Amino acid sequence: MPITSLLIANRGEIAVRIVRAARELGIRTVQAHSDADADMLAVRLADDAVSIGPPHAAKSYLNIDAIVEAARAKGVDAIHPGYGFLAENADFADAIEAAGMIFVGPSGSNIRLLGDKVAARQAADAAGVPTVPGSEGRIDDVAAARAVVDEIGYPVLVKAAAGGGGRGIRVITSAEEFDRLVPQAAAEAQAAFGDGGLYIEKLIARARHVEVQVLGDGTDVVHCYERECSLQRRRQKVWEEAPAAMLDDDIRQSLCAAAVALAKSVGYRGAGTAEFLYDDETRDFYFIEMNTRIQVEHPVTELVTGIDLVREMILIAGGEPLRLAQDDIAVSGHAIECRINAEDPYNDFMPFPGTVAGLTVPGGPGVRFDTMLYPGYAIPPFYDSLLGKLIVWDDSRDAALARLDGALAEFDVEGVTTTAPLHQALVRDDDVRAGAFHTKFLEQWLEREPLGEVKKREVAG
Ligand code: ADP
Ligand code: ADP
Ligand code: MG
Repeated sequence: MPITSLLIANRGEIAVRIVRAARELGIRTVQAHSDADADMLAVRLADDAVSIGPPHAAKSYLNIDAIVEAARAKGVDAIHPGYGFLAENADFADAIEAAGMIFVGPSGSNIRLLGDKVAARQAADAAGVPTVPGSEGRIDDVAAARAVVDEIGYPVLVKAAAGGGGRGIRVITSAEEFDRLVPQAAAEAQAAFGDGGLYIEKLIARARHVEVQVLGDGTDVVHCYERECSLQRRRQKVWEEAPAAMLDDDIRQSLCAAAVALAKSVGYRGAGTAEFLYDDETRDFYFIEMNTRIQVEHPVTELVTGIDLVREMILIAGGEPLRLAQDDIAVSGHAIECRINAEDPYNDFMPFPGTVAGLTVPGGPGVRFDTMLYPGYAIPPFYDSLLGKLIVWDDSRDAALARLDGALAEFDVEGVTTTAPLHQALVRDDDVRAGAFHTKFLEQWLEREPLGEVKKREVAG
């Protein structure tokens, strides 16, 4: 049944992105919001809006009953979860279906098989997709798990099965640390994610983060090629590109085939991303997790493939079969995304909410700014610091870098400190320009070249 009205159960820039996609499909939009978000941009753009509770996310954006009730009261036929919050919560998907509405995403059972990181590892093994050496399932028995680790060798990572956004991961370098830190990690995971489940992976040093976008309709699965997200801080992506410039084409084909095989093995429906670590010395890749939702960095894929991923996921949820065959999907040129956060890059990335006194958005061909900002907007202090994403496209990586440099120079938010200067420094860095990076590159770079020094040099000319 095609969707005719949609409640957006998220906030910030992704809510704006979804309202626009729905509007273009002739779908009536209802924006859900907490009491702290009544004046957010998506509320202004949507046809209608509804409060789902107090500012604290646990009482609003994470409140399944309140969201389903608001959707019912507004008479919508579908709910889009965006990313973060309840986007990978199988119970949320089930509750929406039970209330007779459509969840814009995979089925609850798809999410249980792939959204849980341990289940996804097992699904990958079963589908013949290489995973990182580590524990087979959750750690139930600490002694048994330690025996596995003593065999694969330190350092290892202990990861929360329900973790996300770079949280719930810690490095362990010795048996002594293992015994001390694993119970502590379980308690932390329980407190942070409501699920104390842990598993173990060998630490893959100097890896690149390469991920494959897929679209499935429950029967067929296609891939929309890959993105590289190796520039990270605290395991959170900061800068993303498509395609992965340094990837050989035979590896690219194997990665994409692996992602499709995994998604097909569970009859995947919706948009999803299979994430991998890639070692460019050994040319080995390892599956790490599947994100069963739209991702923050989806626009770089949109710019190189011309596919509107949010539109496709809404159409799939409405029951349409995939509109694209694999042969219809091709990559052209190069796209780069910079995450612009309300954080002070000169002061250990301290969060910096405030009121937007002025806003200069860069423009010109191949420049896109997906944002929640507008002049006069007071950024609430309760949520993630992402303000927007500056995305550029050009016909080659070098040209895209030049375009990004110019766009960043134009970009300005008055009244709020942002991470834009970090990106301006990165786009001018020789290693970044050469694509010579890995997942620890940015943290090492920040230690080596404190941004304050970069600023001083620039002022000095
Ligand atoms: P992407 O892979 O799409 O870039 P991220 O890992 O950066 O996604 O997460 C997207 C957003 O969702 C971020 O705001 C992040 O903080 C949040 N997020 C993801 N997973 C979780 C989780 N399990 N719990 C809380 N927040 C999460
Ligand atoms: P999240 O759900 O928080 O996104 P991921 O499992 O996707 O967690 O890992 C996030 C990041 O942590 C990866 O992009 C990578 O930089 C790092 N990481 C994860 N697993 C490993 C590993 N086994 N070895 C080295 N780094 C890893
Ligand atoms: Mg991840």
